[in-house]
Amino acid sequence: MIQAPKGTYDVLPQEVERRRVLTGHAERILGAAGYQRIETPAFEATELFARGVGEATDIVQKEMYSFDDGGGRSLTLRPEGTAPVCRAYIEHGMHKLPQPVKLWYLSSFFRAENPQRGRYRQFWQVGAEVIGCATPETDAELIVLLAELLEAMGVRGTRLRLASLGQPETRGAYRDELVAYLRAHESELSDEVRGRIELNPMRAFDSSDPGTRAVMAGAPKLLDRLSPDDAEHFAHVRSLLDATGVVYELDPTLVRGLDYYTRTLFEFSSDALGAQSGVGGGGRYDRLIEQLGGQPTPGIGWAAGLERILLAAPEPPTAPDAVDLLVTVADRESREAHLAAFVIAREARRAGLAAQLELTGRSLKSALKHADRIQARYVAIVNDRDQATLKDMTSGEQKELGAAAVIPEVLRGDRL
Ligand code: ATP
Ligand code: MG
Repeated sequence: MIQAPKGTYDVLPQEVERRRVLTGHAERILGAAGYQRIETPAFEATELFARGVGEATDIVQKEMYSFDDGGGRSLTLRPEGTAPVCRAYIEHGMHKLPQPVKLWYLSSFFRAENPQRGRYRQFWQVGAEVIGCATPETDAELIVLLAELLEAMGVRGTRLRLASLGQPETRGAYRDELVAYLRAHESELSDEVRGRIELNPMRAFDSSDPGTRAVMAGAPKLLDRLSPDDAEHFAHVRSLLDATGVVYELDPTLVRGLDYYTRTLFEFSSDALGAQSGVGGGGRYDRLIEQLGGQPTPGIGWAAGLERILLAAPEPPTAPDAVDLLVTVADRESREAHLAAFVIAREARRAGLAAQLELTGRSLKSALKHADRIQARYVAIVNDRDQATLKDMTSGEQKELGAAAVIPEVLRGDRL
């Protein structure tokens, strides 16, 4: 038996409905704020992600599905949405449009990861980007919109962490300072943290080792090293969030896996998720468009995992799809009746009814059983070209009528 590749999954019909609910909320919430949907290709030039996401990131280092296009160029299945949206912004000269350009997407992404609950190799993200605007209001608006989307979906136990990274230069200087601080306290650190001082000094903040924790309590924080401009921007974002009542925690140790972030950084998690607790997050990327070859243009965005939203949201009660009418025949041998049934089903759909034709040629008795299973409201049993019996499946009553009267009768919808 051939199975779906590891880390992928089929979206079966009953799941499609929950996804539709999410799409509906995203369309409503983002649409009302003036965001327009965009779709970019499933694969891009590998260079876009190498430059856009950052050579040193986990995504580029080990999570990309890259392949040769047959002509010596390297293509990559998109692992994230921001770089492609920025590429499209540059490629289509969107800087000529009224700024900012506000876009959203709902697309599948691909990462070569270790599959587990909430972590797949093909997964879906809903995301939003605002390009061409550097004001703190933009940052706060985006955060509020994601909070609204998660709330509309009923995502449980959410927590919002917020930080500012400042500029890459600030970050570089801070990193050196932190490394020096860790070196000075080397003997008090756990072996693991000591071994990674150069590689990833920020990791030390996540350690559960008591000695390390004591050292980290006194460690310098990036938030205290921000330039006056960046600190002012961040304070403004926070006061806007405070004014809207969105609850957040300052997390000076928040890091996310993409290199392009500047200033505001945020992440929503849900305690309903277990290990893979990140629901969605994002940040400002004021250098990215320029890095991809565009004019210097500020931008900010977020992405949230569709599967994780659905895992952290309650299962809605499943209502079966409505079937107004099932059309079948009394005599399986009657060609006339089959023709008339086919026409009635088609006309019924054109009249706006959810109408199905009994396709299998099963007996009348089993057709009625099938009607029960699919919860059809009415069954039309066509006797010949112009005679039918209409059965109300709720009351069990039935009525003889001309074939032409079936649809008006169902549309009237009252009990026979
Ligand atoms: P994680 O820390 O869980 O690996 P991430 O930092 O790699 O997440 P982002 O690149 O910021 O995640 O993507 C945004 C969101 O997309 C995540 O918060 C998560 O909900 C979702 N996501 C990321 N990778 C996967 C995956 N492999 N499978 C399912 N959802 C994912
Ligand atoms: Mg990841």
